[in-house]
Order: sequence, then structure tokens, then C-alpha cells
Amino acid sequence: MRRLRTLGDLGDLFGTTVLVRCDFNVPLENGRITDDLRITATAPTLRELRDKGATLVLCSHLGRPKGEVVDRFRLDPVAERLSEVLEKKVKKLDQVVGPEVKAAVIGAGAGDVILLENLRFEPGETANDPAFADQLASLAGRYVNDAFGAAHRAHASVVGVAERLPSAAGRLMQREVEVLSRLLEGAEEPYVAILGGAKVSDKLGTVNALVENVDALLIGGAMAFSFLAAAGGQVGRSLVEPDRFDEVRRAVGTAEEKGVLIQLPEDVVAAPEPSLDAKRETVRADAIPSNLMGLDIGPRSVEEFARTIADARTILWNGPMGVFELEPFSAGTRGVAKAVAGAKGFSVVGGGDSLAALRKFDLLDAIDHPSTGGGASLEFLEGRQLPGIAVLMDDTA
Ligand code: ADP
Ligand code: MG
Repeated sequence: MRRLRTLGDLGDLFGTTVLVRCDFNVPLENGRITDDLRITATAPTLRELRDKGATLVLCSHLGRPKGEVVDRFRLDPVAERLSEVLEKKVKKLDQVVGPEVKAAVIGAGAGDVILLENLRFEPGETANDPAFADQLASLAGRYVNDAFGAAHRAHASVVGVAERLPSAAGRLMQREVEVLSRLLEGAEEPYVAILGGAKVSDKLGTVNALVENVDALLIGGAMAFSFLAAAGGQVGRSLVEPDRFDEVRRAVGTAEEKGVLIQLPEDVVAAPEPSLDAKRETVRADAIPSNLMGLDIGPRSVEEFARTIADARTILWNGPMGVFELEPFSAGTRGVAKAVAGAKGFSVVGGGDSLAALRKFDLLDAIDHPSTGGGASLEFLEGRQLPGIAVLMDDTA
């Protein structure tokens, strides 16, 4: 058996300095945070550590600055929002490591919160460079990782530091691992998974893993068209990935062998292109006119999907049902979001766009577990070992 180390394993934290890897990779528009779920979700860990008398040194990446300083990816907006959430002024530094950082950390007292600059301004972060990991580790006596969204990356702040300091998972990481582990084995049945989004290639690994576990797999979004086309359907100009059709057919075959219901949309909302003023038509999903593309699941599909979702005791949803960003193609995603939010089963939703859709429809609060990891939750559900989690585990007898 393997067991995740948690905050209790770190001993007495009074007077210690704890380096906390957070996932503050929040969506920004013109320097404003448009969704602060990742900030609020890690706050319980930070409050608990402060209550225990620790000094906190927080670190995170934001965007992809590729190893150099990019002003629009500075963490100042995060520090501002986090100060409000914690009701405590967060001291934001303009460097990741170095003498100024060292001095600020030495000068901090119990309960103080320091936020380092964007980790990915340093090339050593993604390279898991030993010298950079040493520098980060030298700032603290303990390490806590609460950045589930980065757990699939073997970066310095995720793996390197955990190897250098007494380390444990924060409460958010702990809950993500507990909830998602239950989806891998021991989920209450019926267990229904809903997958959507743009690219079937992103999610085939998840499909293959889920057919081993779920009772029904509902497929919407553009990825549905690869399933429909692989089975001989006419999908017009819908997004498909023909090089994946064989793999799709294999997944469908496995599902049949295992008695897993694969539910595809019966009808779709189609248009010549994804635009606000495009002329829409609701058509059969496997008979889309050659000049149109499927951009949302249709009303009959929503009804059928909702029926399956209502009977489920466990629900996993990842990926919108259509181009929900455009109002004319948002009804399918809204319908499924309502079904998931209203279902009595335990609901888990992952994926940045799926969570954005729930927030837009004001249904996020009705989800039992909004997962903060997009790519990380999918990799976890594929049954893969995530490096950032493996390094926080102990072997037990
Ligand atoms: P998530 O972030 O929840 O994991 P993805 O990133 O996989 O979801 O996919 C989200 C994107 O998929 C959205 O931008 C949405 O517009 C797009 N999408 C969904 N359905 C279609 C479709 N039928 N055609 C084109 N794009 C689609
Ligand atoms: Mg996305």
C-alpha cells in the first residue's frame, strides 16, 4: 500500500517556514482575474498552516512565460486577490529566488505570507534543475504541495523541492487525490462519465481508462463527431480527427465487451461556421449536410443525456457539449450542466472550460467536487502515476 503524506505528517509547525507550491494559474483578462476558484480552493490549507504558527512562502506558475520575465504574467493580481481571501496582506516579491528573496523570508514572522514571483520566469523550473531546486528549498524547512493542477509536471517546485525537504500534500491536493481515487476504483454505481470538448485526441486515453470503470459514457462536443464518423455517419464539416478513427473503434469495441453504454448525440445544432449570426439548423447527428458543421448537441440529445445523468450515483464531467462560448451554441452545455447540478449523484467536474461554463450558468456551487486540475485530473483518471503525487507518498506495510 502507498499512502499520501498530509499536513499532520509534518509535525509541529510553530515557528517553521513552509514553502507551499500553489496552483495560482488563473485565467486573466487585461490583468484581471476572471475565475478565482484556484485561489479560494487552496485557502483552507494556507489558513491551517498560519493557524499552526508557520511562516508561509508561496510559489506558483502563471501562464507560459518560457523561462524569462514577462510582465503580464507577474503574480501581482494573485497577491491582491489572495490578500482579500485570507484577510491578510500578502507580501509579493518581484523575484523567484536570490538575495532579496532570502532577506524577505528571514525578515518574516509567524503567520506572515510571502508570495514569490512566477516560477516559470526561471528556466530551472520546468527543467527541474538541481541548482534551482536547491535555491527554492533553501527558503524553508518544510514543503507542502497544494498544486494539484501541476502534479503531472516533474518540475523543480513540484518534484525537486519535495525531494529536498520534509514534504506533504496540502488539503486541496489531499481532497483531489481522495475524490479522484474513488473514481478509479470503488465509485458508487451507476457511474456515468460525460466527455466533450474540442479534440478527441486529448481525451482518448481517458476514454480507454473510463470504459474499464463506468456504466455509461456520454460523448458530446466535437469529439462526438469522430465517434459518429468512425461508425460511418455523415458529419459534414464538423471537426474530426480521422487518424484517430481506428482507436475510437477499438474503444467502442472494448465498451461493448464490458457492457458499457456509449451514448452519442442523436441530434446536433449545425451551422456553416461558429459565429453569432450563423444560420442554425437542428439535424440528425449522423446525417449532417455537407456544408454544415455540428457546433452543439441538440435538444433530444440533451434530454437523453439528462435521463442517464439523473439515474447516476457517481458523475464525472469533462469538456463542454458545444461551442458554449457563443450563445447560439450553448444550450447543450447548459442543459447538461443543469442535469449534472441537479442530479442526486456525487458530481465531479474537471477542465477549465467546463468549469467556466458552470460558472457562466451560475451552477458551480451545485457541483460536489469542482476539480482544479485540468490535464492533471485527466492523467490521474487514466491511472497514471503523477510525479508530483508519487513524491509525496510513503510505502506502508
Ligand atoms: P475543458 O477545458 O473543459 O477540458 P476542452 O478544452 O477539451 O474542455 O474543450 C473546450 C472547447 O471545445 C471549447 O472552447 C468549445 O468551444 C470547444 N468545442 C466544443 N464542442 C465543439 C464543437 N462541436 N465544435 C468545435 N469546438 C467545440
Ligand atoms: Mg480547455
